[in-house]
Amino acid sequence: MILIVGGGPAGCLSATLLGKENDVLLVEEHQSPGFPVQCAGLISDCCFESYRKYCKIHKALENKIKGAFFFSPSGDYFCARGEAYVIERKILDKLLMERASEFADVVIKSKVKFEGSSPVVGDKRISADFIIGADGVNSEVAKAFGFKRPEIMTAIQIEAKFEAIDENFVEIYLGRAYSDFFAYAIPLGNTARLGVIAKGNALAYLQNLLKRHPSVSKRFRGSIVELNSGIIPSDLVEFVKQRVALVGDSAGMVKPHTGGGLYYLLFAVEKMAEKFPKLDAFKREFMKGLGREISLGKRIRRVYSLEDRELDKLVKAMKEFDFSGVHMDRPSTFLSPAVLVRAIKMLLKEPSLFRIASKLF
Ligand SMILES: Cc1cc2nc3c(=O)[nH]c(=O)nc-3n(C[C@H](O)[C@H](O)[C@H](O)COP(=O)(O)OP(=O)(O)OC[C@H]3O[C@@H](n4cnc5c(N)ncnc54)[C@H](O)[C@@H]3O)c2cc1C
Repeated sequence: MILIVGGGPAGCLSATLLGKENDVLLVEEHQSPGFPVQCAGLISDCCFESYRKYCKIHKALENKIKGAFFFSPSGDYFCARGEAYVIERKILDKLLMERASEFADVVIKSKVKFEGSSPVVGDKRISADFIIGADGVNSEVAKAFGFKRPEIMTAIQIEAKFEAIDENFVEIYLGRAYSDFFAYAIPLGNTARLGVIAKGNALAYLQNLLKRHPSVSKRFRGSIVELNSGIIPSDLVEFVKQRVALVGDSAGMVKPHTGGGLYYLLFAVEKMAEKFPKLDAFKREFMKGLGREISLGKRIRRVYSLEDRELDKLVKAMKEFDFSGVHMDRPSTFLSPAVLVRAIKMLLKEPSLFRIASKLF
């Protein structure tokens, strides 16, 4: 029997795929999957299509995105085009849970605890041949089996009235006053999800963004309808030990440059199901598919620690950059010959950017 701990997307997808050929028990501590909401719901077009294989994800669709505006600390911005979707996590998680229950035994409102390395549900010890820890960043499975834990960041997000520059474009805010990572607005008609992801005090950064950002403060209209916060892992950690595997946030499977986890966890679960019960082969396949993306994502993340004046300069230069061929889930697309040539041309035109580029690579 395979015990899956956690009924978020990673757990439900694991139950769906492993449950087709194995005896699976999925245990989720909350009554409703996806609650409390801890997600902005932004996923790429490819990610949306991949989820379509497992649920009617269009039911969770809230907005179609055509690209992003990246803001410098002084309020200037450039546009990067690319298709993405905004989805409602409560609905997605419910759809995935419904699907999982077709293939696995699902127990809700029960927390899995561990006595040593033995899982206990309620007051019953469970005997499992394999344990999948899909129990998020504070994973009990990881603690019980001595997995190294990832570094973490805090995310705080509100939904409020907001006048987006364009309702189909996400906005990303850079600059030390607004986060040591980044801040964002995901438009939803006349409201938006406004949030900050940070290693430091995310709430203080968010207050600064809303009150003092040269562009956001003029377009924020108040009337907060929802407030939520959560933890985002910032690094992939070891995720396989003998008969135990971690998937999703429990393993730090998020894009290092955005903290988004929905794409990586789906990729991980598909590889795990493909290779099961060979968990070492799963690990190899995951690293083969995403290892390079993760290390490039970490380099892109260095942008967030640039000085404000460097960010101002970078944003100004990027205004003319043609982003075609670049994909938000795959940083390696920046290194395709066509994109590299464009980047080199930009650097030659503006040699002062060399110093900034050298900090990133
Ligand atoms: C504010 C915020 C915004 C985000 N925005 C995006 C975004 O726009 N796009 C994106 O791709 N990602 C985003 N993310 C990240 C994304 O939400 C996560 O990567 C994703 O939820 C990870 O899924 P998971 O199944 O691994 O873990 P979770 O969604 O955390 O699910 C873990 C589940 O395990 C259950 N559980 C925990 N412990 C136990 C236990 N002992 N027994 C039983 N059940 C247990 C929990 O109740 C929970 O349901 C965001 C995160 C935050 C915090």
